[in-house]
Amino acid sequence: MKVMLGTRNNGKIVEMRRLLEPLGLELENQTDTDIPSPVEDGATFVENALIKARAVSLASALPAIADDSGLVVPALNGRPGIYSSRFAHADATDTENNNELLSQLADQASRSAYFFCCMVMLRHPIDPTPIIAYGQWWGEILSAPQGEGGFGYDPLFFVASHDRSAAQLPADIKNQLSHRGQASQQLITQLSAVFHTDA
Ligand code: IMP
Repeated sequence: MKVMLGTRNNGKIVEMRRLLEPLGLELENQTDTDIPSPVEDGATFVENALIKARAVSLASALPAIADDSGLVVPALNGRPGIYSSRFAHADATDTENNNELLSQLADQASRSAYFFCCMVMLRHPIDPTPIIAYGQWWGEILSAPQGEGGFGYDPLFFVASHDRSAAQLPADIKNQLSHRGQASQQLITQLSAVFHTDA
């Protein structure tokens, strides 16, 4: 079955293609099309994930999978949250967002944070029963970036169990631990049940 992957983030594309491999779907990249990214004007990760999946499903006439994800810092009242990709400003680079995070955390005692991912699948644009999966990954925000791998806030996200930043983890280990890895597993489990029931 052909399914459109609703993201223009190359870091996510690499991870999601690998994580969703067990489903044996024919995943199409939004980046290989001229389908624009929709305005993400939801107030929560789940709303934005649905907005993205619905937009690409409508434009491609295919089922769609999309995620909305980001970093949540309780000491910053949940920021950057759904604004993670545009924390410093609308077109911010990862480096600019990381610098903004470091400056907002400068006076904070607690540097605990978690990555959150909501991954959804719509069978068609007006699917009334979307499949919705979640993942959450706790860590600590470092005082300076470490490592070159991954994307986004990975260089600042310290993973105590592995004594290194997410950007220093091999890709397969990050996929085992991460918010996106957990959400993908949940999506796969739910989808297996749905396919079974639909059959
Ligand atoms: P979205 O594309 O609107 O969902 O924004 C996701 C943003 O959250 C990314 O641009 C990153 O800043 C951040 N983010 C989400 N997942 C990760 C991750 O696995 N590592 C690092 N940053 C992430």
